[in-house]
Amino acid sequence: MPDSRLQHVTILGATGSIGVSTLDVIGRHPERYAVFALTANRQVDKMVEQCSRFGPRYAVMVDADAALQLRARLRAAGCATEVLSGAAALAEVAAAAEVDAVMAAIVGAAGLEPTLAAARAGKKVLLANKEALVLSGQLFMDAVAASGACLLPIDSEHNAVFQSLPVSYQRNPGASGVRRILLTASGGPFRDSAVEDLEHVTPDQACAHPNWVMGRKISVDSATMMNKGLEVIEAHWLFGAPADQIEVVIHPQSVIHSMVDYIDGSVIAQLGNPDMRTPIAHALAWPERIDSGVGALDLVEISRLTFERPDLERFPCLALAYQALRAGGAAPAVLSAANEEAVAAFLDGNLGYRRIGDVISATLERVGVMAVDSLEAVLAADAHAREIARDQITKRSMTR
Ligand code: NAD
Ligand code: MG
Repeated sequence: MPDSRLQHVTILGATGSIGVSTLDVIGRHPERYAVFALTANRQVDKMVEQCSRFGPRYAVMVDADAALQLRARLRAAGCATEVLSGAAALAEVAAAAEVDAVMAAIVGAAGLEPTLAAARAGKKVLLANKEALVLSGQLFMDAVAASGACLLPIDSEHNAVFQSLPVSYQRNPGASGVRRILLTASGGPFRDSAVEDLEHVTPDQACAHPNWVMGRKISVDSATMMNKGLEVIEAHWLFGAPADQIEVVIHPQSVIHSMVDYIDGSVIAQLGNPDMRTPIAHALAWPERIDSGVGALDLVEISRLTFERPDLERFPCLALAYQALRAGGAAPAVLSAANEEAVAAFLDGNLGYRRIGDVISATLERVGVMAVDSLEAVLAADAHAREIARDQITKRSMTR
């Protein structure tokens, strides 16, 4: 029997690519979902549109000027949504008692505190913001276990693995009959480019992903394959899988979203059109199924599915992520923080594309071993890594 109770949802990062897709799915099921709060950094126009359509109780703008503008525009439009401002309000609308589910779709470390607040408050946490889990790892999973939160992956690969793993895996990976988790990767826009040609790649070229339309940061991460590296670490924490059991295979069509290989030779995969509304709808309704707006997969039309092994010389960021996962402690947090700084510098035209990996590698080498057993320790590791990464970026800056 479907649960007839309306689910109240907060969307962190509502104006982004995942946020917009989430509202698209929610808008198809007004009898199941109501929007409690929408949040954004500073995109006023999109937020006015979203508040007018979905009438949330709260809208949070992190930027104070944007909050002022939004308040005035919503008042003029006769919309009763209350506008809050500042980063602290993100955690408030994520943990509020009225909220059932939180879509964590802020990009980068900025999403850590509100996502952790949702986990600590025992919400159904729909996790798109992989950087939050990469940064806080054990701390985040402990918070989920302590509060009884329900953590569901939105990242298409992890959602596919979640759908393909046996329920016993997390309790006892050794006895579950799983041999490997196979994360698929598109290989991004430079899968076939000569490595020398990558020297002069521009931000727009890096963001032109062949299969997915996404925010600019994750698009660059997909081009360098740091996205897949972060996903290996994400899979480790989400499912409790050791690094040696997680493999990456390039699959340019992005139709198989990931697979689980069992010791009896069975491989279970989840397939679908590359559209994030599928994992979003899956996680929102789990364990039920709802219409996501995504059309049926036409395998005959696609006709060919191909696979390649990733070339670690072309994609050094993938090797760095495995290295950080194996090193443990703060290394994944350092990797993610250095990557955010390097990608931002690249997008601003201050760092060459090929230097992104160099900056991350140099930062990992320079940051000593740190424990990350509290939110404060995670934030300190993040801040320290950014400082070192910025120094490394300046040394390699294109303007010098
Ligand atoms: P995006 O850039 O399109 O949107 C980011 C959202 O976060 C926006 O609403 C923005 O206002 C908000 N935001 C940005 N900086 C902020 C800050 N400092 N404080 C508060 N809010 C801030 O990004 P996206 O592509 O939607 O990705 C969001 C997250 O989901 C990322 O972690 C990404 O890795 C993950 N993800 C995205 C996709 C995808 O298809 N786009 C797929 C899998 C995972
Ligand atoms: Mg993904």
